[in-house]
Amino acid sequence: MRTALIALLLLASSLAHAADVTTTEARTLLDELVAIDTSNPPGNEEKAARHIAARLKAAGIESTLVPFGPGRANVVARLKGDGSKRPLLLLAHLDVVGAAGQPWTVPPFKVTEKDGWMYGRGVTDDKSWAAIATALFVELKRSKEPLHRDIILALTGDEESSGGGVRYILEHRKELLSDAEFALNEGGGITLDSSGKARLVSLGTAEKTFQDFALIARGIGGHSSVPNDENAIYRLARALDRLAAFKFPTRLTPSVRESLRAAAATQPEARARAMRAVAELKGDVIPAAELALLDAHPPVRAMTRTTCVATMTNGGTRDNALPVEARATVNCRILPVDKVEWVQDTLRKIATGLADVELVPDVGIGPEVSVTGPVRDAVAEAAKLVFDGAPVVARIGLGASDSRFLRKAGIAAYGVGLLAKPDELTRNAHGPDEGAPIASFPLGVQFLRQIVKTLAQ
Ligand SMILES: [Zn+2]
Repeated sequence: MRTALIALLLLASSLAHAADVTTTEARTLLDELVAIDTSNPPGNEEKAARHIAARLKAAGIESTLVPFGPGRANVVARLKGDGSKRPLLLLAHLDVVGAAGQPWTVPPFKVTEKDGWMYGRGVTDDKSWAAIATALFVELKRSKEPLHRDIILALTGDEESSGGGVRYILEHRKELLSDAEFALNEGGGITLDSSGKARLVSLGTAEKTFQDFALIARGIGGHSSVPNDENAIYRLARALDRLAAFKFPTRLTPSVRESLRAAAATQPEARARAMRAVAELKGDVIPAAELALLDAHPPVRAMTRTTCVATMTNGGTRDNALPVEARATVNCRILPVDKVEWVQDTLRKIATGLADVELVPDVGIGPEVSVTGPVRDAVAEAAKLVFDGAPVVARIGLGASDSRFLRKAGIAAYGVGLLAKPDELTRNAHGPDEGAPIASFPLGVQFLRQIVKTLAQ
């Protein structure tokens, strides 16, 4: 299957863009960025940010280096438009997840081409995006074509941890992003079917927010030879048992509905039928029969509601002492329509009489953005030209990206994938042998170029 796919993609790309300077530049930049180890922690993104700044300078573009910690920096630049429309931000992150301890079969910090694929840490997450956006930015400068909007390029650090890079800009250098209307970022995707044809273009319009809570149960200490009825570990266990049985209410927002419709294509018959029916329901309540079918599959269950799950516990100090305190980390993934305070209140009710519920420092929640409008139209237009008219589907991301901070700050951020990949291989970001078909790279350049053109020219 891979061979057929590569053949088709190769044909498409060699016909259309054999002599594309921007593609060559983007690819060179990708090789250079992958070779700069920005594993987070510690990040060390400054080196990569300086590399980009030098590339921009060579093209006559001034940029601003925005340090946010030792060895850490973002880089931001702007091309002026005529101001008739508000600015468009292109955002990508420069840090990567570390490769240590993972069974890589190629060196992680070097782009290796093998059997039609290119491998390396950051090839899909997110250095191709950074390289392609930078090369297109240079192309826009070079072409001198008039722009209706400013185009802002922001390459940031720390996305893989807590979004410290983009948060620093929003808190201290907001003027660098002013007054962006839309942002394009990672968080979408292009899925190929088994024949190598684009089946689906997903557009990220919402994402669940990562929020930890601490469940803390307390008890009365003493010698373990004389147990009492106030045991912190037992209390915590009872609270967690209640949590395990609890399900948050379903919320059928526009992004959730579209995600259900799209994901139905890969589900067995009965569940697929239920997912399509649920996508058309009025209101948020799912009838019991359909709900049972949806909930039987954890990824679908997670799509329709906020989830909270215990991920770590500790309690007690000695094997012969009664525990005075026991704690659990409860990791929540919150739908944009649900409020963090409401989730905390709900957890408090669940743990009533057994444990306290404390918020672990907030990492931010952003609203869902419109599933219709200029960005979607531009993506659909580009999909028509580059991916044979593959349908565009709005999607709720179950993970979190820097888009949430932008959305919170009032910039409508959309997740756009650039590298087309076969269905079953979309999840190798963060793992060993991260990679993508070589031939999807030039198509990614075309795709982003087309979207930016439609939005800004
Ligand atoms: Zn990423």
